[in-house]
Amino acid sequence: MNIILMGPPGAGKGTQAELIKAAYPIPHISTGDMFRAAVGQGTELGKEAKKYMDSGKLVPDEVTIGIVEERLAQPDCATGFLLDGFPRTTGQAQALDKVLEKQNKKIEAAISISVPDEIIIERMSGRVSCKECKAVYNIKFNPSIKAGICDKCGGELFQRSDDNIETVSNRLAVYKEQTNPLLSYYQKQNVLHEVNGNRDASEVFKDIKKLLERF
Ligand code: ADP
Ligand code: AMP
Repeated sequence: MNIILMGPPGAGKGTQAELIKAAYPIPHISTGDMFRAAVGQGTELGKEAKKYMDSGKLVPDEVTIGIVEERLAQPDCATGFLLDGFPRTTGQAQALDKVLEKQNKKIEAAISISVPDEIIIERMSGRVSCKECKAVYNIKFNPSIKAGICDKCGGELFQRSDDNIETVSNRLAVYKEQTNPLLSYYQKQNVLHEVNGNRDASEVFKDIKKLLERF
């Protein structure tokens, strides 16, 4: 099962990825999580990525493609993977196809979650994530039982520094300009599925599960 989760920042990709992971045993590969981990560890990759993340710009393709290629070569990806937040440019999508071709694999479904901008802006202002297990909550729509503490692992919840209104607006603009064209890229490959993300997360997941049951 080789799956891509697409959609603007805040569409609910991470939230749906958690539900998918719980139902299907495939690795969840989030380039955003990988970059945040590198920033947290202060590595060279993290220092480079931070320059772009802070302003809502995309990390350059050559850097991003390299880390995904390395991750997809790990043994746990042999029987499938769930990509979240990658690809985000046509260059990344083409590079991904080449990497998969070498392994005799291809993308089986690109699931695009759509949500109106005004809802995204509201969601992002309330997003908090677990420092330990990366679970996502929302202080308005999906709060943890105990404020600031993860229900799943007891880890500390934090607000992402790029979830401020200015950076969110930049990220939405970048999405429209650089990532939206990928919808027709995957439509041409006959693997695109669009899902209405402006509903309760469990309703969105029901649609995604129906799609994944085919694989
Ligand atoms: P993405 O990974 O696409 O950036 P997230 O999964 O992190 O998005 O979700 C962004 C925010 O919106 C989080 O605070 C999350 O709890 C909340 N959220 C996700 N899906 C829904 C939904 N269907 N309804 C309401 N809030 C949601
Ligand atoms: P996300 O967690 O997906 O919202 O990503 C957070 C930030 O990480 C983005 O705003 C980008 O700066 C960077 N990033 C994540 N994935 C990619 C990607 N595929 N290409 C370029 N930059 C990315």
